[in-house]
Amino acid sequence: MKIGVIGGGQLGRMLALAGTPLGQQFAFLDPAPDACAQALGEHIRADYSDTDHLRQLADEVDVVTFEFESVPAETVAFLAQFVPVYPNAESLRIARDRWFEKSMFQDLGIPTPEFADIQSQENLDAAVKRIGLPAVMKTRTLGYDGKGQKVLRHPDDVVGAYAELGSVPCILEGFVPFTGEVSLVAVRARDGETRFYPLVHNTHENGILKLSVASTAHPLQALAEDYVSRVLDKLDYVGVLAFEFFEVDGGLKANEIAPRVHNSGHWTIEGAECSQFENHLRAIAGLPLGSTAKVGESAMLNFIGEVPAVEAVSAIKHCHLHHYGKAFKAGRKVGHATLRCPDMEALQARIAEVEALIGN
Ligand code: AMP
Repeated sequence: MKIGVIGGGQLGRMLALAGTPLGQQFAFLDPAPDACAQALGEHIRADYSDTDHLRQLADEVDVVTFEFESVPAETVAFLAQFVPVYPNAESLRIARDRWFEKSMFQDLGIPTPEFADIQSQENLDAAVKRIGLPAVMKTRTLGYDGKGQKVLRHPDDVVGAYAELGSVPCILEGFVPFTGEVSLVAVRARDGETRFYPLVHNTHENGILKLSVASTAHPLQALAEDYVSRVLDKLDYVGVLAFEFFEVDGGLKANEIAPRVHNSGHWTIEGAECSQFENHLRAIAGLPLGSTAKVGESAMLNFIGEVPAVEAVSAIKHCHLHHYGKAFKAGRKVGHATLRCPDMEALQARIAEVEALIGN
């Protein structure tokens, strides 16, 4: 079976690393000449709106998926005329727009921060009066890794904030005084069977994920699974979806969903019986799902800007290096390490060793 992937970054690359042993082949459509997934499959170098090349991709592959949610809706609609596309266009439409996403959470009874649609500075002023400060203003689309957002703490921060974020549609969210951030990675098959990985505790720095630690018997696992199931069933979702939550007052508030394999699920490559990448491919290919059980205690640390020396990472016990083969650049995710240890004590010790390598 040949899989078409819209986008050829590290997520596409790791999908291919998981799918190759299943006998799958890959084609990536990505305009970037240096798309790092091309080491693992065919690279169709074209714009996401280039219908000639989209048609070529559709003709060559059995199923199409994507590795980022900002894919234009027209691209998915065009491809879907010729080839199955998973997750479906509706999942993408909702997940790429924070207003649609939060409105869906509300409709499904999933707690989420107070929010308002912002189309002008006047809208913002009125929303700040209703929601109060501090608050977080985010562009409705195209934001990632903390980009396209601004925390409003003082009335002075509100002045001109709409123009500062580019005078594009935004949402304003109440600031959540969270005690932790967790994510649940789930996979849903074509027949609706759903499996969940353990909740993961995430630490961010400057809006970018730094560390994910997989939990054991987290007290909020069942609640998170309930919320995620509501979304998956509503969207008739197929594939892997990641759901990010704030932990607050002993419960969960929904932050956002990603309709794809997710950075907070990278630990599953070595830390789970079947990785998020393999399970995504199994789901979209119509294969039986694999076990999401954790194997040992596991964590993932991102390498941002540069990857430490391979020798140094390899010297750490229970440590697995994933180098994305991308040019090093400040603020860019260029690799990660997965740790899989026999117990929590060993895991904490190994996390400290990797952190020492990246200068924390
Ligand atoms: P996001 O791109 O929405 O995931 O936001 C990036 C990071 O900003 C989150 O992981 C949180 O650490 C922080 N953040 C986002 N929204 C809020 C909020 N409403 N209240 C407090 N912190 C937030």
